[in-house]
Amino acid sequence: MRRILQTIADEHGTPCFVYFFDQVVDRCERVRATFGSRFEISYAVKANPNHHLLRAMLGHVDMLDVSSIGEVRHALASGWPAERLSFTGPAKRDAELLESVRSGVGEIIVESLDEARRLDAIAGSEGTTQNVLIRLSPARIPKGFGLNLAGKPTQFGIDESDIDEVMPKLRALDRLNITGLHIYSGTQCLNAESIAENYGIFAELFTRVCTAHEIEARKLVFGSGIGIPYHAGSEPVDLQRVADIASPVLDKLRNEPCFSATRLILESGRYLVGEAGVFLTRVIGVKESRGGRIGICDGGMNNHLAATGHFGAVIHRNYPMFKVSDDAPGAAEVTYELVGPLCTTIDTLGHGVLLNELSAGDVIAVGASGAYGLTASPVYFISHELPREILVETVDGRPTITDATQIVAQADAPVTTEAGS
Ligand SMILES: *Cc1c(COP(=O)(O)O)cnc(C)c1O
Repeated sequence: MRRILQTIADEHGTPCFVYFFDQVVDRCERVRATFGSRFEISYAVKANPNHHLLRAMLGHVDMLDVSSIGEVRHALASGWPAERLSFTGPAKRDAELLESVRSGVGEIIVESLDEARRLDAIAGSEGTTQNVLIRLSPARIPKGFGLNLAGKPTQFGIDESDIDEVMPKLRALDRLNITGLHIYSGTQCLNAESIAENYGIFAELFTRVCTAHEIEARKLVFGSGIGIPYHAGSEPVDLQRVADIASPVLDKLRNEPCFSATRLILESGRYLVGEAGVFLTRVIGVKESRGGRIGICDGGMNNHLAATGHFGAVIHRNYPMFKVSDDAPGAAEVTYELVGPLCTTIDTLGHGVLLNELSAGDVIAVGASGAYGLTASPVYFISHELPREILVETVDGRPTITDATQIVAQADAPVTTEAGS
């Protein structure tokens, strides 16, 4: 691992994200096997929209969930058929809806009645009907979710308490074909019991809504909520335990008459790709200042906002980090502040990081960096060059290194402004 990372850093340059695709494949297979194929898998593109990664995922996940027309384009450009895409997001513009309808996006996830009405008009003006899933916002979520959208005012989905009033209005929109329901109410949970209990909440709500409103659901989407360990002391989710508790609940759901032909989809981003990614940054220099040692790196917050603690974290806890470069003979362990290249005090990758003595040119790896890395970071701030992206996968038994660098702005083709004629 260290050897291949050093080779990549030397040959492709730093800063750099490296994605080990074999690990993504293992994750997908484990999810399928652990749940006994009860779930199909949908990958949430916002976790990492790299084109090479998306293309590589074609044979390993069943669907992609996209959250903007830019992500629709990423997916299509990566070879995904439009009918295997679902499109979520609270602020879909008319132009995005129109382009999605024209592209043949499989399902648009309706987040509100207003959005449904706009989509209905657009589908009508195109002389077509659009498959939609209705996103529900549950009243509650078990404890333990790092991010929790349930039970409070939210722009995401239709509140559980409003759905009985809203559903008849949605059903009256004759250009929309309601083909199922969707819930994503929280994430970054590491507790198996809480994750499984949450699926129970989903199952109950799905059953109640489909029965009450006579919806023939072809798909029910379960936002996975499954987290990954980012920090020392965090334990990975016991997926087998999740499956042991959730499987009887899922089987009961499948036995409801209204769900006999329904596909259950587990929708996840970070759990599939997060731990398969590493961020590489090179030490530009080491500074001693007032008794402290500071390792100054060529990539920081501008490339990897989350690792610097500014992507939704309440306090900054270090990501797993290690030194890639060989140690000088007899090198001692030293505590470093690891900072990025930006002219701001908040650009700190790690506080009090214990590493064998660093010198200029050494490469440092930050783990758990495959999700919410590059594209969740303020890459244009202070105009440094964009980081590289490298995909490593085993082909014919050998690790194969592909330069998968993608210019982030690629999705920026002008959004069509036609009103749909
Ligand atoms: C962000 C998002 C996901 C993925 O979340 P992870 O925490 O990466 O698993 C899935 N579904 C929807 C609707 C999302 O917005």
